[in-house]
Amino acid sequence: MAADDLTVRRWRAPGRINVIGDHTDYQDGFCLPMAIDRECRVTVRPATGAPTGTAVARTDPATITATSVQEPGTVVVAADGSTDPATVEPAWGRFVAGAVAACTARGAAIPGGTWTITSSVPTGSGLSSSAALSVALVLAGVGLGGLHLDPVALARLALDAEVRATGVPGGLLDQMTALHAVPGHLLLLDCRTLTVEPVPLPRSLGFVVVHSGRARTLAGSGYAQRRAAVEATAAALGLPALRNATPDQVAHDPRARHVVSENARVLAFADALRAGRTDALGPLMLASHASLRDDYDVSTPELDRAVDRLMAHGALGARLTGAGFGGCVVGLVQRNHADDVVAKVARDLAAAGVTDPLAFAVRPGAAAGVAPD
Ligand code: ADP
Ligand code: MG
Repeated sequence: MAADDLTVRRWRAPGRINVIGDHTDYQDGFCLPMAIDRECRVTVRPATGAPTGTAVARTDPATITATSVQEPGTVVVAADGSTDPATVEPAWGRFVAGAVAACTARGAAIPGGTWTITSSVPTGSGLSSSAALSVALVLAGVGLGGLHLDPVALARLALDAEVRATGVPGGLLDQMTALHAVPGHLLLLDCRTLTVEPVPLPRSLGFVVVHSGRARTLAGSGYAQRRAAVEATAAALGLPALRNATPDQVAHDPRARHVVSENARVLAFADALRAGRTDALGPLMLASHASLRDDYDVSTPELDRAVDRLMAHGALGARLTGAGFGGCVVGLVQRNHADDVVAKVARDLAAAGVTDPLAFAVRPGAAAGVAPD
């Protein structure tokens, strides 16, 4: 073993599903995400000033060279955070530049080195591969740079990294989930107070994820339109956010009605879990999907089909997860039926013309942190 192998360091961060509570986060509401047992890992090898003629490659101590097992190309960014993420190609490398810039702006002194990324979270499907990546990257940045931050500060730093990388302002839900996850639990997240309450999932229950077969088209523009619409409604009602609205106040406004009714469903879902009333869970998920489809208008025929196939094969409830406009649905199943449901739904989607249908069971995963070897 080369001496440098001893100083290899690794960090990991999970993807997530949102079990219930979509399009509530930006109105100070509630959601109930779960970190999944799929994760992004960043492995860091320090820069070596090895003398020429040795077997160890010499690397520049002022730069970070990054590769991804899933994406092509190599990116090189300045370790001092001075590389503008927008200038980095290929585009996935902007996450590296964004994370390094965010961490150095926070005071981390990051040494040069070689960073290798690998992830089992499917990209662009609403399982938040981007948050898994940015959380793992900022953990590397602060870990190498000698900073000690609490989970909320780390979530904000990872969001800062992703905003620097993509230019898209997002919420903190995904990063908070990755950093607060507890194995065996869902997380009741209050988006106003940024507090998290872990709620245990009975061992008899599990979730399956099914890709609808349609990429998330319109996710950016549709998201911005919906967000602007409910912000305008909250302002017209004189409220800081629809978190404060009553059902009567929004009875005739479908978009706002979704936000208000969805918050109530999230709280009812958490109550039912705490009380062991598991038969209430599936209907709440179906009601959430119907509200996202009919009131919020963010479903697609492919998402509706995936929900329908899950229910046809014995799921207890199912709904789209994430922003909608394509991507994945999540189904609640008896844990010992999960593999059977996955196989049958995948078969149906293949028969409906979906190439390489993506369906798999997920378990509640552990929080982001240092990864084992
Ligand atoms: P989602 O977060 O729902 O998976 P996004 O579009 O927000 O979808 O994020 C996907 C992007 O995140 C990819 O296009 C890529 O830039 C980046 N990404 C995610 N995982 C990886 C990876 N393993 N390697 C390189 N880039 C990745
Ligand atoms: Mg994302």
